[in-house]
Amino acid sequence: MDLSYIINELGEEREQYFGAVAPPIIQSSNFASRTVAEMRYKMRHEEEEYMYTRGNNPTVTILEKKIAALEGAEHAVAFGSGMGAVAAAVLSQVNTGDHVVCVKRPYSWTKNLMRKFLPRFGVKVTMVDGSDMEDFKAAIRPNTRLIYLESPTSFTFELQDLAAVAAIAKEHGCRTIIDNSFASPLYQNPIAFGIDLVVHSCTKYIGGHSDVMGGMVCGTREMVNAIFKSEFMTLGAVMSPHDAWLFIRGLRTLPVRMERVAASTRKVVDYLVQHPKVEEVLFPFLPSHPQHELANRQMRNNAGQFSILLKAKKLEQADRFCDSLKHFLMAASWGGHESLIFPISATYASEGMKSSLPYNLVRFYIGLEDPDYLIRDLAQALAKM
Ligand SMILES: *Cc1c(COP(=O)(O)O)cnc(C)c1O
Repeated sequence: MDLSYIINELGEEREQYFGAVAPPIIQSSNFASRTVAEMRYKMRHEEEEYMYTRGNNPTVTILEKKIAALEGAEHAVAFGSGMGAVAAAVLSQVNTGDHVVCVKRPYSWTKNLMRKFLPRFGVKVTMVDGSDMEDFKAAIRPNTRLIYLESPTSFTFELQDLAAVAAIAKEHGCRTIIDNSFASPLYQNPIAFGIDLVVHSCTKYIGGHSDVMGGMVCGTREMVNAIFKSEFMTLGAVMSPHDAWLFIRGLRTLPVRMERVAASTRKVVDYLVQHPKVEEVLFPFLPSHPQHELANRQMRNNAGQFSILLKAKKLEQADRFCDSLKHFLMAASWGGHESLIFPISATYASEGMKSSLPYNLVRFYIGLEDPDYLIRDLAQALAKM
């Protein structure tokens, strides 16, 4: 399917709404039936019908169809946040007594789900580095039901070999889920490598403007409908029609935004790599990166995130660099128009948030600004460090 068709036409039935180019926001919680027979049918097939917006809503359906198509998935279901999607996908695959293998440094709240939440229900989790296939082979037990991936991972950007992990999982009869938010549905499509479920935080690239939150689970119709009938309807982390409309608007410009982000990021990375005050740039698309070949094999392009290790001898020095930046906003998240830094040292002082990562690590997100404008800002902040 053509990318342009998916983004501009798929799922949109303009003749039903006066030829409007932008779809209507069907701001209704409830949908009426004309006859008992119709209502009876809807009750039995709620996953395909419009009955109540905690189930399906026509505006949300447009978004689900587009993202499923972008991922090469049969079907998708939208959630009110990325974590709503992650939690529902994971919970759909495990029961008491099961075991999960998860990458060691996933998104922070995914880590909470694995480390604190699942154990409350008798599900054991082994965290592995995941950049070596042997990590997975060694961690799998007879009761392993799920392998959970995030590639590239948050903060340090290690990759997992998706085709190889999918093959191991199939051999052992376990399912695979990947959080594909970092690559966006444009630059990596894990289902093509044999991964079962793909989750997204739509809040990031898909929304693209730092003004809306949402999540998505993509997979076979059978797996997605099973999640719909259980975790989705029960836990109720539903996306609002208005938010779906904002995501559809975000999708219209996703390819041009991603192209700009990818090119600017390479330019900024090239600047930082040669800078004497930068010890290392963690970015799998650098030819010197140990997973460079894998990155090129399973991703179409780089996205806008990378981390650097500053040549800072003390925490205060690293903090001074971050405090001196004038145009990078200091914040969590990413994927919007604005460039960001997330200094790992910010997690140090807060109670209970110990980090295994060094204080001189700063995560970057490159947004839509002129890369030269960003490089000038980096130059002045590095000089002050
Ligand atoms: C932000 C993020 C999430 C969570 O998404 P929300 O929309 O904030 O709930 C999950 N995974 C990754 C990789 C993220 O960056």
